[in-house]
Amino acid sequence: MFDSLSDRLGGVFERLRGRGALTEADVRSAMREVRVALLEADVALPVARDFVDKVTEQAVGANVLRSVTPGQQVVKIVNDALVEMLGSDASELELGVTPPAVIMMVGLQGSGKTTTTAKIAKRLSGGQMGRERKKVLMASLDVNRPNAQEQLATLGTQIEVATLPIVAGQQPVDIARRALSAAKLQGFDVLMLDTAGRLHVDAALMAEMQAVAAVATPAEILLVVDSLTGQDAVNVAQNFSAQVALTGVVLTRMDGDARGGAALSMRAVTGKPIKFAGTGEKLDALEAFHPSRVAGRILGMGDVVSLVERAAESIQQEDAERMASRLAKGQFDMNDLRGQLAQMARMGGLGALAGMIPGMKKAQAAMAAVPGSDKTLVHMDAMIGSMTVKERAKPEVINAKRKIRIAKGSGTTVQEVNKLLKMHQEMSTAMKKIKKMGGIKGMMAMLG
Ligand code: GDP
Repeated sequence: MFDSLSDRLGGVFERLRGRGALTEADVRSAMREVRVALLEADVALPVARDFVDKVTEQAVGANVLRSVTPGQQVVKIVNDALVEMLGSDASELELGVTPPAVIMMVGLQGSGKTTTTAKIAKRLSGGQMGRERKKVLMASLDVNRPNAQEQLATLGTQIEVATLPIVAGQQPVDIARRALSAAKLQGFDVLMLDTAGRLHVDAALMAEMQAVAAVATPAEILLVVDSLTGQDAVNVAQNFSAQVALTGVVLTRMDGDARGGAALSMRAVTGKPIKFAGTGEKLDALEAFHPSRVAGRILGMGDVVSLVERAAESIQQEDAERMASRLAKGQFDMNDLRGQLAQMARMGGLGALAGMIPGMKKAQAAMAAVPGSDKTLVHMDAMIGSMTVKERAKPEVINAKRKIRIAKGSGTTVQEVNKLLKMHQEMSTAMKKIKKMGGIKGMMAMLG
């Protein structure tokens, strides 16, 4: 899968990688090629456009880390954007707390719904998802297609998973009720409902899905779509999710999909996570969908990505060590505060850090008093950026006149400058306390 996209992107980045310095024009021309590559892979136009805009903005404004080249850094930025486009974290099946957990499978005819039902049942009953083996019951609610129920029963025998006995003439909602009570009575952990497909999304199908969902209250409603249908798969998903509360998508026939457009735009367009990828006709040809692994496969540049990650980590490590040695001396100036702010931004905002250090309650309160943490971090950084070298090293020299200059220079107000100075002072006091306790090590020892 994704072969042609991989090839195209590989070419673009191979050219960037070798370069020592990248100009904005280099980045922009590379991103034009990326955009074309995405569109050729059948990625939805708005998704491709957003992707390229985001990457361009980040790549042009990025501070290049020491020890990596700008080209390598761009590869990492593209990788992260791909992961985000694919949905960030792998999504597990949610099986709830009270068994039986109902998994309802929906989709058009021929999408691979019945096969996928059996594939998931096989994984659950084989203990491949989570630690325990699940006791699984499968039931087909497809009364339209002749032999649909028999097809599921045959698959059940193959994978040694129970199927609900067939009662001729029973309607979908009644089958769902019967399946649910059988699952409860016989102590099944999971009940998989394979619903009827149609050739197109139609009102009768949707009404049936809704009625079944109302009776079965599923923990998961998984939409099965054929990845080979590209943009159509995304449209089908949009239609379904407008009418039933989907919890995720399974993309089938990824084994034959060289373009990957459906996989790439599904998350952005529908807001639903891809939970599995079907990769063949065999009943074990099902993979959990891991966005980072898929992004890695598309780019084929795992070495570069991990290089940049390691470089970033080692810089954080150096910063932390530098900070620790200054703390040991009870020093804390505006440069240190700036470093702390950057770290907070990485860790998810103000207060997170202060909350972890004893004696920082006051400083934390000062931070919490500043509203809108994300923007505030940016403002604070701008204020420190507007200070002279002397002001940063010795904030006590900042008088009223200097405050006005700093506020102007950073597009903030004197009030905000005051808050920043107060916060610095609280933190600086806390640092001195830590020093009295014998530095970080002494503090840790005291805390046991
Ligand atoms: P349904 O009508 O949606 O229930 O579709 P089926 O489950 O009967 O599948 C239709 C056909 O697609 C069958 O021949 C399956 O073997 C095949 N199929 C399903 N999933 C995959 C997949 O991930 N890869 C490939 N290559 N074939 C698949």
